[in-house]
Amino acid sequence: MDETRYFPNKVYVTKDSENLPMTQKILENTGHLPVEIILDSRELIEDVLMSRNPVGEGKKLLLVTHQRGGYVKPCPCTPKYIGCNYFIINTELNCPLDCSYCILQLYLNNPLITIHANTSQLYLQLDAFLHKNRNRFFRIGTGELGDSLALDHLTDRSSELISYFADHPNALLELKTKTVNIKNVLAHEPPGNIVIAWSLNSEKIAGEEEIGAPSVHNRIQAARTVSQAGFRVGFHFDPIIHYEGWEDGYGEIIDDLMAGIDKDKIAWMSLGSLRFPPALKPVIQKRFPQTKIIYDEFITGKDGKLRYPKPLRLRLFQRIFSDLKKAGGGEIPVYFCMESGDVWKNVQKKTPRSKKEVEKLLTLPLGVNGF
Ligand code: SF4
Repeated sequence: MDETRYFPNKVYVTKDSENLPMTQKILENTGHLPVEIILDSRELIEDVLMSRNPVGEGKKLLLVTHQRGGYVKPCPCTPKYIGCNYFIINTELNCPLDCSYCILQLYLNNPLITIHANTSQLYLQLDAFLHKNRNRFFRIGTGELGDSLALDHLTDRSSELISYFADHPNALLELKTKTVNIKNVLAHEPPGNIVIAWSLNSEKIAGEEEIGAPSVHNRIQAARTVSQAGFRVGFHFDPIIHYEGWEDGYGEIIDDLMAGIDKDKIAWMSLGSLRFPPALKPVIQKRFPQTKIIYDEFITGKDGKLRYPKPLRLRLFQRIFSDLKKAGGGEIPVYFCMESGDVWKNVQKKTPRSKKEVEKLLTLPLGVNGF
């Protein structure tokens, strides 16, 4: 497995976070690196924002600080499409990998790799949230504003979260990654309400557009190891990208996946095609001048994002879905990320009427939610 672990050039710690246990753990794990204690992160962030490549410069620096707002939030999804009733925990912000299509390149109020260290607040907020909603079941994940495992060798966040959720059966935690950073996960017994999920793509797209990420084959090998240890796993083909030869490119990954993983261990898969706000295009052009993925034909969707025209999206989804069935994955729950009812109907012959129905589709087969 190509396990290239991230280390920043320098660690900054805000004074109010200096003595927190999470900060101490990070400092132990980055002991060879320069550290600076700062009173306030604003000046540092402004300096990075003034540089020629704030996103690239920000990835070299680690900021350990407090999460000032709420840790737990509903996934914003995208207006006017069918969502999946997902909640997110903002434990980290930004990501050491560098995917050309990454939406985080637009969130420029803080480009540093940021770890929120006031962990006790996180668990107090989770306690309150899960208790208040104790008659509901939640899917919760950490992989919206970063990669769930890319910093795990510094934080051991996965261990804390797995232990916490093992004692809270009215929620299911998904850790979503492109890395093979699974050592801490493997140190645990596998609770039924934990899903370790990988974002997959064709090897060509991964090699050209997902800079710093392991090969897709190695991600599947990591998923195999985790599933053989008893964990449930999930897979996200997202963003599916159209290029000459995409049929074979994605077909090979489906074959690799279905040959390598026991399908009973696969909790779900999602399919999502390339989509991005128009404002991301000039950022991609500047940071990744060699990429071709932004020069295909796009329409503006109901949410204002650029996406492939529907006939092309349907072709991509139908082919991948049918390859999955042919490879023996017909029973695996599959959902679409940010798509219309029409797309569901055309590909899967069923249309969930609400995000609650999507949630049931995903959680009923797992037998974890009491519906
Ligand atoms: S792994 Fe995800 S969060 Fe990290 S750069 Fe790629 S798209 Fe962005």
